[in-house]
Formats: sequence, C-alpha cells, structure tokens
Amino acid sequence: MGAPASWPEPGDSGELDDGTRVEFWDYGVFALTPAQPGSKDVILSCAIHGNETAPIEMVRDMLHDIFSGKLQLRQRTLFLIGNPQAIMIGKRFVDYNMNRLFSGAHKSGDTPEHKRAADIESYVTKFYNEAPADGKRQRLHYDLHTAIRDSAYEKFAVYPFTHGGPYKKEQLTFLAECGVTTILLNQAPTTTFSYYSVRSHGADAFTVELGKVRPFGENDMSRFADADRMFRKLISQDQLDLPAFDATRHTIFDVYRTINRTQQGFRLNFPGDVANFTEFEQGYLLAVDESVEYHVEQPGERIIFPNADVAIGQRALLTVVELPLDQLELV
Ligand SMILES: [Zn+2]
Repeated sequence: MGAPASWPEPGDSGELDDGTRVEFWDYGVFALTPAQPGSKDVILSCAIHGNETAPIEMVRDMLHDIFSGKLQLRQRTLFLIGNPQAIMIGKRFVDYNMNRLFSGAHKSGDTPEHKRAADIESYVTKFYNEAPADGKRQRLHYDLHTAIRDSAYEKFAVYPFTHGGPYKKEQLTFLAECGVTTILLNQAPTTTFSYYSVRSHGADAFTVELGKVRPFGENDMSRFADADRMFRKLISQDQLDLPAFDATRHTIFDVYRTINRTQQGFRLNFPGDVANFTEFEQGYLLAVDESVEYHVEQPGERIIFPNADVAIGQRALLTVVELPLDQLELV
C-alpha cells in the first residue's frame, strides 16, 4: 500500500505487500485480515476512555509496524480506538462514561458515547460474523485501559462474569505473561465492553488495566513491554507456546460489595488519591451516605475504583477480598 493521496475515509480499504487486507471501517476502527488467517479472531481495543494514552500508543505502534511490514500479521485482528472525540479533548469522555454503555445500555441516551458504543457493538458483531467458517475458531478481546489512580497492584485484569462457566488457565497464563497477575472477578452482568464480547459473542474477553494514566508522550513504555510483546505474539504467531499454568503466579480478588451513592451528602472517608487495592483495618469507616455508614467488615477487605462524585444512584466504591485460586473452577 503506497502513501495515500489523501486522508483515508471510512469505507476505504487496501492491501499490504504480504497480502494482508486492511479495511478502515470508521475513525479508529481497522479490520485486518492476513492472506492465510490463523484460527483466532482477535480484538485489541483502547481508548474506551479517551485520556488513557499508553494503550493508544501501543496500538498505534503495532499498526505502524504492520503497515510498514515490520510486524507480520497471522491472525484476523480488529484494532479499535474507542473514543476519538474524547482523545481530541484529552478527557476520559465527552459526555458519558462509555464503559457503562454496552450490551444495549447505549439505547438509553443520545450523547456521543451512546452513539459510539452502538457503532462499536455493530463493528464487533461484523468482525466476528465475517470470520472464516473453517472449523473451530477462538474469539479473543482485550480491552486495554490505564487507571486514574495508583494501584497497590499496578496491573490487573477484570475477568467478566462467566454465568457459572469455568475460568480458563490459558487466559490466566497469557495475562500473567503480559505482566498481569492480579485478577478481579466480576460476578454479575455489567455494561462494560469486555462483558459485552463475552456475553454476546462467546469471546474470551478482559478489561486489562496496565498502569496509571499519563499524558501522551509521558508514558514509560518499558512498563508495558511485556504486554506489548505478548499482544504482538498473539496476532503474529499461529500458537503462543505459553508456559504451563502455575497457580502461584496469580492473585485473585472477588468483589465483596458495591457501595452506591444514594444521597447528595455522600462522602468517602479516605484521601482522594488513595491507591486501588488499599487495605483498611476491620471496622474502619469507609464511606458515609448521609445517615448510612459503611465500615470495613472483613479482614483483608480492600477498596477499588473509589469515586465520590458519581451521579446519585451510581457506584461510588467497590470492596474486594482475596479468593484462594483453588476455589475457582478452572479448565
Ligand atoms: Zn479506562
């Protein structure tokens, strides 16, 4: 593919020297099909939150290396840059947190994020539906994020609700090879992007938190080197040849409870910049929702994703407790 005479427009397509077909479906949406695709259909998404820059830089560099012939694609891959409008203004979102708008939740409004989430669902559907019908294929989706705050465990992945299905050793091992050894189990349906891919398309899908948000150009990409290496391997090789599953590598957390803001006077009783997975002693007052007090109930109970400024009725805080791996059904 030579240098374009003009900026590409949605609907444009072309072919790389090695026969890989490149289709530009929409702003930030690139569907790539190698001449001889392997058995995986991989979605790598970033910028569902527009200010989470490091994964955008990772995806940009991967696309650049594919287009220049440096990285040879082997698996069908959909690169999806979630919220270009929010990237342009350097914000998490324009009007609404897009990672609460999947599995149809986008039907409840008409902000730019509602519209985009609906479009993204249609692209994911198209991508999986257009896979070759040649026997057993594996659907994978890694939705890459960086967190707003520090974390006692820098990298972690959210394993969406499996509806009773087993957890996969292969996926836990792949994530560990990416440097992600902390897993948060989401034991209920949600409106996140990764749960949508699990539930609507039968994919192995994860929300992957790779570290703390920094502005463009200020990310220390060496901190993402393991993840970058593994995602490149995933899309450029037939098989990953992962090491054997090792239970001692993984730390699993289960949601203990969700604390919602129900009153105007809701407040959190710890500093605004406290790290995710911070543990407080039993009895510690975590939050006050006007007359209701929330205290730490369990030894080892830790807080995650605190945000006192959410709209009334929304989640202000989660608490989690560690779950021994042998309590999970694994395959
Ligand atoms: Zn995010």
